[in-house]
Amino acid sequence: MGFVPFAPERAPIDRAALTAALEGANLPSLVAVLYQLTGDRRWLADPYRPTRSRGMEDNDPGGFPPEIRAEIRAAAADAVCAWAAGAPVAVPSPTGADLAEIMSLAVGEDVPLEYADMTAEDMGFAPVEVRRAPPGALRAIVIGAGVSGMLAAIRLAEAGIEHVVLEKNADVGGTWLENAYPGAGVDTPSHLYSYSFAPRDWTTHFGKRDEVWEYLRAVADRHDLRERIRFGTEVVSATWADGCWTVRTAGGEELTAEVVITATGQLNRPRIPPVPGLDRFRGPLFHTAEWPADLDLTGKRVVVIGTGASAMQVVPAVAERVAHLTVFQRSPQWVAPNEVYFSPVAEGARYLIEHVPYYRLWYRTRLAWNTNDRVHPGLQKDPAWQHPDRSVNALNDGHRRVFTRYLEAELAGRPDLVAKALPDYPPFGKRMLLDNGWFAALRRENVTLLTEAVTEVTETGVRGADGAEVEADVVILATGFHTHRVLWPIEVRGRSGRRIDEVWGPEDAHAHLGITVPDFPNLFLTCGPGTVLGHGGSYITIAECQVRYIVDLLVTMAEQGIGAVEVRPEVEADYVRRHDEAHEAMIWTHPGMRNWYRNAAGRVVSALPWRIVDYWRMTREPDLRDYRIDPGNGDGAGYSAEPAFQSAQLSSQSP
Ligand code: NAP
Repeated sequence: MGFVPFAPERAPIDRAALTAALEGANLPSLVAVLYQLTGDRRWLADPYRPTRSRGMEDNDPGGFPPEIRAEIRAAAADAVCAWAAGAPVAVPSPTGADLAEIMSLAVGEDVPLEYADMTAEDMGFAPVEVRRAPPGALRAIVIGAGVSGMLAAIRLAEAGIEHVVLEKNADVGGTWLENAYPGAGVDTPSHLYSYSFAPRDWTTHFGKRDEVWEYLRAVADRHDLRERIRFGTEVVSATWADGCWTVRTAGGEELTAEVVITATGQLNRPRIPPVPGLDRFRGPLFHTAEWPADLDLTGKRVVVIGTGASAMQVVPAVAERVAHLTVFQRSPQWVAPNEVYFSPVAEGARYLIEHVPYYRLWYRTRLAWNTNDRVHPGLQKDPAWQHPDRSVNALNDGHRRVFTRYLEAELAGRPDLVAKALPDYPPFGKRMLLDNGWFAALRRENVTLLTEAVTEVTETGVRGADGAEVEADVVILATGFHTHRVLWPIEVRGRSGRRIDEVWGPEDAHAHLGITVPDFPNLFLTCGPGTVLGHGGSYITIAECQVRYIVDLLVTMAEQGIGAVEVRPEVEADYVRRHDEAHEAMIWTHPGMRNWYRNAAGRVVSALPWRIVDYWRMTREPDLRDYRIDPGNGDGAGYSAEPAFQSAQLSSQSP
């Protein structure tokens, strides 16, 4: 199934194979392994301290001269062979300052102590205690079987909480099932875009959609999730009454449970632009998330509307085979280079990931460090900054110079394209994109970049604001998703009977920690408002924080016989105030650009303002004092009197 063990088992090792594999090692990861295996402190200091990575680069050579590289590899071969033969690990589970010290070695710069606890948990040095709920106390309905819903089901099962997952699609995977357009894939490194407990032997550094989807399906198989998922079951409403949620499906079925966990994502409902004539077009016209399976674009004239992350993947993937491709750009995008975007993971590195203790963990921890929070300080507005129109601070201005140089180099000789493609707003103001051949595609003779607004779709093409019609055989809407209409179109009614979108107001969702909302007892959101990562990192890290928080709270409720929890309005209001204040000081409220993080009123609804380490700490342990509590009486009052439900038969009533 492509998994690798969380930690390699001790087993005889072929020294020749190991030595060959070490040639492909990420040396900064390897020195950390060496120190853990040997405990020899000389590995912690110069000349074995690597240079820091620039941006997201892997920095495999670590900035070491050749003789030091050879010395590290030889010492690693000895240490790993000794370990395989039974030698004890000198530093098996570092935590606290010890771990921060090794982290600082591995990443080549000082890592603050505050990162140690989060990292120790992720690396398995200080694993989270699995708490089990008393049987039968609570039942949960999970809505959605994508990344978050699958995770919720896995953790609920570990906690012994009965649950069923309702999924509108025919399989697991959510966004990775639906987004099957050519070129679809992650732009977070795959070894980080994986559940912490389910590492995979990724074949590429940035997994394409099929591999990511295969991974999620394998996780579902490994955890027997399918028997707890009801596929083809779309939820239309959830209503709280008498200590219970009643969930209604499009098929007219009703299910009840004390708890509802939503896992519907924010990039779930395609946003079709209000362009006149969409239904007039004679050929295929569709959104990127609804790509027709049998579509062949060979020799076709294609129009793509939009230049976000989806367009940036589709365009290079199809440009070669189409007759002509016209891209309608409303706003240009900042694009960062990445040296390993298309690279397979080298055989040697895959061998080390599978066979060498701690190597995978250090490789992942380095990715986390390089991509998680490092950019966050650079996204804070500096009130004294002299050029607030083009950047938010000096660091951000430096990013601007780097990305501008890259764009100009990629589009050298095409001043027309530079003029169109160079953004004037600060980098990171919209979600940053990685160059996956975008500029190379724009340079092609059969690709045209237009900057006029789309005014109309005709029977035969797309008309721009200049009045000219671009004839097309196929029109692709790469126009994004209804990110602000959280939970929409599910009609969710809470204790007072009000719909959640009425409580929030139009496109203005908010929730304590992005997870819980006053007036909606026992409703828990994953990927809720204010939890999308705009500054970097892997969404799966955030999902793991949220699901841990939710399941921990449910176990406590079950243990204490609590029937329902409802976040106190003042607690949520205080969180939202701090969230909004933090955003006011950050880049995404900059007026120079549109982005899908904020709504029409200018409030950032989607993105997390905090660093990942902050959110990890905030969600580490639920505090019951944040909640109003409906006490159960310990013998099931407030709960349905039914016995524990069977899988997929959760108090289900057909109409
Ligand atoms: P998006 O980032 O929201 O981009 C939508 C694009 O459509 C923008 O260029 C937007 O222009 C344009 N647009 C919208 N309405 C338009 C109209 N009426 N006329 C002309 N242009 C219009 O959507 P997306 O590309 O699907 O990406 C959404 C998010 O999904 C990403 O930010 C990312 O989080 C995720 N995603 C990730 C990956 C990946 O990991 N590689 C890939 C795909 C998607 P404006 O910029 O002017 O609004």
